[in-house]
Amino acid sequence: MKSGISTIQVIDSLAEITRYQDREILEKSLLETLAETVPSEEYRLYKVINPPPNLELTVVANKTTEHDVISENQTNHNLTEDLQRAICDAIEREDVNTFDSDEHHHKGTIFPVFNNKSDITAVLVQFSDQHRFDEQRVVFGLLRIYSNYLNLLHENVRDKLTGLLNRETLNKEILNILMEKSHAKKRIEIRGFRRSTDDAQYWLGVIDVDHFKNINDKFGHLFGDEVLILMAGFMSEVFRDDDLLFRYGGEEFVVVIRVLTKEDAFGVFERLRTKISEHTFPQVGNMAVSIGMVEIDEQEGSSDVIHSADKALYFAKENGRNQTCIFEDLISQGKITQQQKIKAREIDLF
Ligand code: GH3
Ligand code: MG
Ligand code: MG
Repeated sequence: MKSGISTIQVIDSLAEITRYQDREILEKSLLETLAETVPSEEYRLYKVINPPPNLELTVVANKTTEHDVISENQTNHNLTEDLQRAICDAIEREDVNTFDSDEHHHKGTIFPVFNNKSDITAVLVQFSDQHRFDEQRVVFGLLRIYSNYLNLLHENVRDKLTGLLNRETLNKEILNILMEKSHAKKRIEIRGFRRSTDDAQYWLGVIDVDHFKNINDKFGHLFGDEVLILMAGFMSEVFRDDDLLFRYGGEEFVVVIRVLTKEDAFGVFERLRTKISEHTFPQVGNMAVSIGMVEIDEQEGSSDVIHSADKALYFAKENGRNQTCIFEDLISQGKITQQQKIKAREIDLF
């Protein structure tokens, strides 16, 4: 290769980028690899939250000659006007875009990253003292591999029918939250130090469609599937972008939300429940869901969390359906006990 970037270097970079299945580590490794392969003043990777005209970006990783890659999560971080304009341009033209940056007195290059549905998902910004076409090609190529790999990872964690996250991903997410909670508690114990994020609560809700068997029996399985897709759509509308939505089993969903109080959490799940119960589904007519919720806090593991939410759900089913029950409330009201085992419910996996 003429550019001084050897074939071996490129192969090593590919191996490095595709070594990880965790998105955050993957992004870090991408920037490290880029910086090694095509050294530059700065690399900045933005995730696209909103495409133009209302462009909204979050920096997910940043590497400069002064510091190693840091993972960040800041909205519109360091987004100067000229940079913003150049990014919008690159996205609209679906092409690499170069511009002169006032901020760095350097040349900036914008590389837009699209997914396999041609949606813009990320933007890489590179600041360097010169533009070299062959080097841009290498960066562009590595980004395409990153994007293809990201698509694969994305498909790996998604349920095929609804596009929601799948069951395998749920355990990992719950464990992350349990760990975060226990770290926050230690921080407060040791240093008496409290960050505002330490006050956040995470709630998990199990959502189960009421009398779903009837729909399959009356209208057929395909119709049932259609209803599940509509349900997933409702969930995406009601919950926020950073809430985690899972298809847990056949007609069961799990949602993990971050809120400040129990009342907020209850309000959000109730909003979904009422929305569904007020909707008239084509042919099927009215439908309802029952919801069991629990705070993810000091449980031993993910199955503990799900088991508790499941108990609350079971109580909702046994006591009239079409309602949301809170595990902690049922315990304090003596309606269920911690030890009481629920009748094992079968989860239909198709
Ligand atoms: P309830 O939850 O209110 O107690 O009643 P239910 O009729 O929903 O009962 P249950 O949860 O036990 O049964 C779930 C039924 O959902 C079983 C199966 O016929 C149907 N089902 C599960 N997964 C799928 C799926 O992927 N597609 C379709 N079409 N049907 C499914
Ligand atoms: Mg069920
Ligand atoms: Mg059901």
